[in-house]
Amino acid sequence: MAIVEREVLEGKEPAAPETQPEPSRERLPLGPIKTIHVYWLAGMSCDGCTISVAGATNPGIEGLLAGTVPAMPKVILHHPVLSVEAGAEFVKSFAEAWEGKLGAPYVVVFEGSVADERIAGRTGGYFSAMGVEKVEGAEQPQPVPTATWLRRLAPGAAATIAIGTCSTWGGVPSAEGNPTGAMSLMDFLGKDYRSAFGLPVINIPGCAPQGDNFTETVFAVLLFLQGLGPLPTFDELGRPAWLFRETVHHGCNRAGYYEEGLFAEHYGDPQCLVEIGCWGPIVNCNIVQRGAINHMGGCMRAGGVCIGCTMPGFPDKFSPFYKTPPGAALSTLAAKGVGGVVRRLRRLSNREANREHRWDVTGEVPSGWAHVQAQTATDRAMKFFYNVWQHLGAKKPGRPPSERERFWGGDRPGYRSDYHDDSAAREDTDGRR
Ligand code: SF4
Repeated sequence: MAIVEREVLEGKEPAAPETQPEPSRERLPLGPIKTIHVYWLAGMSCDGCTISVAGATNPGIEGLLAGTVPAMPKVILHHPVLSVEAGAEFVKSFAEAWEGKLGAPYVVVFEGSVADERIAGRTGGYFSAMGVEKVEGAEQPQPVPTATWLRRLAPGAAATIAIGTCSTWGGVPSAEGNPTGAMSLMDFLGKDYRSAFGLPVINIPGCAPQGDNFTETVFAVLLFLQGLGPLPTFDELGRPAWLFRETVHHGCNRAGYYEEGLFAEHYGDPQCLVEIGCWGPIVNCNIVQRGAINHMGGCMRAGGVCIGCTMPGFPDKFSPFYKTPPGAALSTLAAKGVGGVVRRLRRLSNREANREHRWDVTGEVPSGWAHVQAQTATDRAMKFFYNVWQHLGAKKPGRPPSERERFWGGDRPGYRSDYHDDSAAREDTDGRR
């Protein structure tokens, strides 16, 4: 992957973006970078991505902004909601980056989808804009669409990051029948887009995305740019591969129920949610392993079905929500058949594993909480065959039966007076009981 020329770091106008990766330009990344600007643009967005990132913890944005994360450059964030500056003062820095007057590298982050402003322009309006500018033929300064800012800033950016499903794949604003022509960053910038560091658009999907997925990816890319880490692996759609390789189902806390053919019928049930509309088996997302914020929550942990919000096909290919996916009708049938048998066998093994070896020898469970069912003849027969199989080719732990009595007496040690019952049958040599 090509990387930026030094003039970008020195704040000069970067060369036009490459249209193809150039293997010959591959070399060690430049570094160290002391400061990096982040220009956050919001298109057709609900600001949910901003809220997610504000809740990130590994690393948190406070550390990145304060420059206290080891090996990380200090991040200067220009954000339409979080920045202290407002109005012309806020927009000035965006213009400086565009004009190459910044003197430091920058990253563009785009939240929300990119609307087709030509549609709004037909009636003299706009869908999403930031700041105003004088425009030829207009008496008053006109709003500058965020799509225009994106087109201006993306070529000179060290990296362009699409955050959230609206930005990565178009999301809800680009659903069938939408009136805005909304599209993703990749659709807007095109296949040949490369950042000044030679990177195509980096996509971190989710509606809202998991905040740590974003900060961790930024962290990994910056480590690479600092010369302290390898280029992180991205999949063919520009997703951080280590975060989006697996499906939700692979990491789901309810997957054990699926395997045993147990399915929820109502919301609030603890079993697998596939029959009430979960698409987890075919959705690339790590929300259950990672949790929503600070390793807490996450859709299935909180009882919600997966509606595929991280996927390029969302929302159209996953609607109507909360209806059993067609594929699930077949797979659950198979899971119920096989799982029903497996589940019953596991219960037997589970009952056996819930007994100390001592209790098997003494024949009773000394629990004061409740009566524990004694082993039946079937249990003992199952145990016998299970044990034979389990220890086939291995040495069974324990002592030979001839020695067992010495170590596994029916009585408890000590004096009768130590216990509330008479199970300590021995008397001491002084006749104490
Ligand atoms: Fe898979 Fe969804 Fe069931 Fe979890 S709730 S086990 S993701 S189908």
